[in-house]
Parts: sequence; C-alpha cells; structure tokens
Amino acid sequence: MKLYTVGPVEMFDATLNVAGMQLPYFRTKEFSEIMFDSENLLKKFAGAPNDARVVFLTASGSGAMESTVTGCFTEKDKLLIIAGGSFGERFCQICQYHDIPFESVNLEFGETLTAEHLKSFENRGFTGMLVNIHETSTGQLYDMDMLSEFCKRNGMAFVVDAISSFMADRINVSKSGIDALIFSSQKALALSPGISMILLSKRMISDRVDKIKSKSMYLDIKTHLKDMERGQTPFTPAVGCLLELNEALHRLDAMGLEEKILYTETLAKDFRKRMKAIGITVPGYPLSNALTPLVFDKGATDLYEKLREAGLQVTPTGGALKDKVLRIGHMGKLTIDDNRILAEKIIELM
Ligand SMILES: *Cc1c(COP(=O)(O)O)cnc(C)c1O
Repeated sequence: MKLYTVGPVEMFDATLNVAGMQLPYFRTKEFSEIMFDSENLLKKFAGAPNDARVVFLTASGSGAMESTVTGCFTEKDKLLIIAGGSFGERFCQICQYHDIPFESVNLEFGETLTAEHLKSFENRGFTGMLVNIHETSTGQLYDMDMLSEFCKRNGMAFVVDAISSFMADRINVSKSGIDALIFSSQKALALSPGISMILLSKRMISDRVDKIKSKSMYLDIKTHLKDMERGQTPFTPAVGCLLELNEALHRLDAMGLEEKILYTETLAKDFRKRMKAIGITVPGYPLSNALTPLVFDKGATDLYEKLREAGLQVTPTGGALKDKVLRIGHMGKLTIDDNRILAEKIIELM
C-alpha cells in the first residue's frame, strides 16, 4: 500500500533501518548527547535564537497541544483560537477541558482567513493566540505575518502548531515572534508516531511556564525543561522514535531544509496541475505544500475505497465533508512518479 497520507506517511529506508535496531538503555550520557543534538538541530531549522529550549514529549501531537496550553496559560488568560477545521476545534476543546477562557475565529470550509476576521478582536485584552498554521483538515495555510503582527500589536503570546507545516512551508520563530512551536514525529519527519516536540521562547519560559503550576503531571513542561538540562526526560520516552528523529534531522541537515521545502513544493504543484488538468477542484484558499485537498460534489468515499483497492492510500476527511473532500499528502518518501501513478488511477476510476 502506497501512502499519500498525512501521518503516518511513507517512511525512508534510513528510518526503517534505525527502527529495526535493538533499543539502547537511555539513562546514559550517550543518549543525553543525542537529545542535545536533536534540540540544537530543531532550533536551527526553526530559526530560533540560542536561548530557546525544546522539550520532547512521548505523546501524539494533541498531547503537545494540551501540554502547551496547560503549561503556558491559566483561567486568568483570554485566548484567541483560529478555528478553521478539526485541529483548530481541538485547541478549543483543550481550553474547555481546562477552563481557560477563549474566543474563536470560526471559518466555514472554503473561507480564507483574512485581516477582516481579526478586526473585532483587536485591543480586547487577549493574552495569547493558538493557531494550527496549516489546518490539516482543510489544507489551508494561514498568513503567518498577519497573525504574527496581530500578536505583536496586542502583546499576546503566540503559539503555533506547525505539526503538518514543518518541512513543507517556511517558518521562522525569530522573525515571527513565535513563543511556542509544536512539531510531531509522524508527519513530514516521516517517523513512527510517538514523539512530539515543543520549542519554547525564553520569554514564554520566564513569563509563563516558570510561573504557572501545570494541571498535568505527565505533560508538565516544567519537569521536561528541568530534565532536558541534562538531555533527559522525566519518564521513559519512545526511545526508538527519538533515535529515528535524530537520524532524520541529520539527513535533513545534509539536504538542507530549504531544499526539502522546495522538493515538497514541487510535488504539490505538480499534483495540483495534474488535478486541475482533469477538472478536479482544488480549493482557492492559500494551501500548505504538505497536502492537496480535492473537492467533489459527491463520491469521494467511493473513490477513496477504489483507490485503496488499487493499493493507493489517500487521506479521507471526516464529518460533513466525508463524501466531498479527499486529501493527498506530499510528505515522506514520495516522488513525481508517485504523483503520476495516483493521477492516472484517479482518471481511470472517475
Ligand atoms: C496531525 C496533527 C496534530 C496531531 O494529531 P495527533 O493525532 O494527536 O497526532 C495536531 N495538529 C495538526 C495541525 C496536525 O496536522
């Protein structure tokens, strides 16, 4: 089965080699060195200053979202959430669970987030913004500069979930004034699910994390930061996934992050051209390079099943869009030839 998914995705041979090895014991100096090395590479790729820190959670991406919200905010905050799909709604749900006040900018499917949407939230005492910069459920890539400037103008902490954007779109923590940036192992990094990372600004740590008593023991950023001072985690981490991560980060460093983004962009553009050529609708809002949404009047479910029977696993969409939208991932080990194979199959089955 070929995966055109958003995670897990097609893994590279180098990752599979690491994944097949006996795991080492991890409370060692050697393992700590690997953790520091991964922290430094992530900071480099994110364009973060030296005083930023990274924590490694053994959790899926939602765990890192919850850890960030509970470690950086309290009932005294007032957050603004960009809710343009199921991942934005997840941030709302997390705030509801933890009684953290918030308002949300709710977008209909197909609606582009613009400055107009933010206008009525200006100067209203919001203390932080939560955004999934690429809302994976729709493929929309939000305008980072617009959101960043809004946060700077309003003195808000800026939390960016870049789980499906990292390595597909350009992100720079210093330039955009990002206070928490969230990554996860199973998207473009193309690793096993299991590890999620939060990169935190010095400001976020000193102004918020250090002062807030987290309501979660397992996901407490403070204890993770403390242990990362010696390259360790408070609990047994997904050791294998962390080793896969370190190898993948070095491979990315050798290739160059910009090169990788350009490659993903080339794949996305090629696939979109093929779809438009056969009259399939690709949404008009700004898209991440990570995936291409395909919009149908109906029949998406049927096409999805037929593609599966042909050995091609694309990504279905939940809820009201189930029979209307399929998502084609461009992450992991995929090539232009894989695009051609999928496009030809779609033409044949339509
Ligand atoms: C995949 C993803 C997550 C994490 O989902 P999990 O199922 O918890 O791993 C979070 N945010 C975005 C934008 C994602 O694409």
